[in-house]
Amino acid sequence: MSFEEKLAKLRELYTEQNLLTGIGALLGWDQQVYMPSGGAETRGAQMAYIGGLAHQKATAPEVGQLIDDLAAEIPDLDADDDLAREIKLAKRNFDHSAKIPTDKMMEFIRVTSLAHEAWTKAKTDSDFAVFQPHLEKILNLTKEMVSFFAPYDHPYDPLIDMYEVGMTAAEVKSIFDALRPRQVELLRRIAEKPQVDDSFAHTEYDIETQKKLNNYLATLQGYDWNRGRLDETVHPFTTGFGLDDVRITTHYYLNMPLSAMFSTLHETGHALYEQGLSRAYHNTALGGTNSMAVHESNSRLWENVIGRSKEFWRFLYPIAQAFFPANLGNVSSDQFYRGINKVTPSFIRIEADEATYNLHIMLRLELELAMIEDKIQVKDLPELWMSKMKEYLGVTPPDDARGVLQDVHWSGGMIGYFPTYALGNLLAVQWWNQMLSDLPNIPDEMAAGKLDSILTWLRENVHRHSSRYTAQELVRKVTGEGINPDHYMNYLTKKYTEIYDL
Ligand SMILES: [Zn+2]
Repeated sequence: MSFEEKLAKLRELYTEQNLLTGIGALLGWDQQVYMPSGGAETRGAQMAYIGGLAHQKATAPEVGQLIDDLAAEIPDLDADDDLAREIKLAKRNFDHSAKIPTDKMMEFIRVTSLAHEAWTKAKTDSDFAVFQPHLEKILNLTKEMVSFFAPYDHPYDPLIDMYEVGMTAAEVKSIFDALRPRQVELLRRIAEKPQVDDSFAHTEYDIETQKKLNNYLATLQGYDWNRGRLDETVHPFTTGFGLDDVRITTHYYLNMPLSAMFSTLHETGHALYEQGLSRAYHNTALGGTNSMAVHESNSRLWENVIGRSKEFWRFLYPIAQAFFPANLGNVSSDQFYRGINKVTPSFIRIEADEATYNLHIMLRLELELAMIEDKIQVKDLPELWMSKMKEYLGVTPPDDARGVLQDVHWSGGMIGYFPTYALGNLLAVQWWNQMLSDLPNIPDEMAAGKLDSILTWLRENVHRHSSRYTAQELVRKVTGEGINPDHYMNYLTKKYTEIYDL
């Protein structure tokens, strides 16, 4: 076989992988959006079958041979050209997947699929005991998976690498160590000041009208409805079945309209990234995404840097008032802006303000590290969560639903994911600073309701690269430096100095 024929064969394999992954994602989407709870067992078997099939095909010995043959013909596998990158990444993906036996992978999918149902019930009833045995199974399986990746510096390294290619526990810890004291100090200074008034955010907002406003927001951001849809789930998420079908979900609360609004801005940010991936790289190793931090940088940018900015609401606020005249008719735009940026230590991560959000992540990282290092047991998590919340944020959740059970991730076996949110926050501000330096008119455009320059910049600088770069490589390419917490802290300090008169 010629080089070209071998390359075509590799890409055929990636095409097949995308088909199977898309089918698996569709089963997962249906599970969370429509499936009756009685269907859980069968659905778990279906998802494990599809996932197992994909894994078996991706790790067949002849695939490894094919990739090795291709790699042997690339003069420099570390070169920064598309072909070298493609083969290098294909090799990384193969080596990674081949370490995990297919039956173990299928067991993991089956166990996490059932755990999702248990978590939903446990969260609804605020009853950790329902979820505990599932999480114990997941943790044991996770540790077994980790052992396949030995040797490593830290057992958490292979886990974070699943969501953030190339990142290590030591690197994350060093970034967080630089960040934490400055976040705590900022929070302390804010707490000394009079609190802003956000009472407008706790009256009853008609759900049907909320839906209209949320649809309007996604449209304003540039979401392509011809290649996506918005549904409702317990925990908002984004999923895709290919470049042309990228779906989002949100969750509406009668007394908390900001929750759905900022969730929708967030998930639409994820979806815009997925809808903007390179078509040329699709069905190759360079397709898709390989950094959840870059993913979260898109969602957090739209949710916060844009979605909680003065300029964005200069345009949007009169429209929001027209949607909800009884709720917002007598609330000034200034009060609204301060209200949506209220800083207050709270129980729920996804509703946390920008000043406290990363502390929620640091708490989760600490618990995940302790679980993986065998320093704590699953049964002790609810109590540990409460005491860590007190230590990090000074508040104690009233129950486990608002404590250890609030997030879906552990039920999905996603230990190692949380740090990418905080890294995403840092990256979001680094993109934003670069964007404003490239296009200084953006604030004026936002105030006029024009957001397309933002999306165009993101498409050009971030989205189209798909998996070609790691997060660190991409941020260096776009901004000239690696992930740096200074920019995020400067952004927060400037914003809250004005709002809280620090
Ligand atoms: Zn997200």
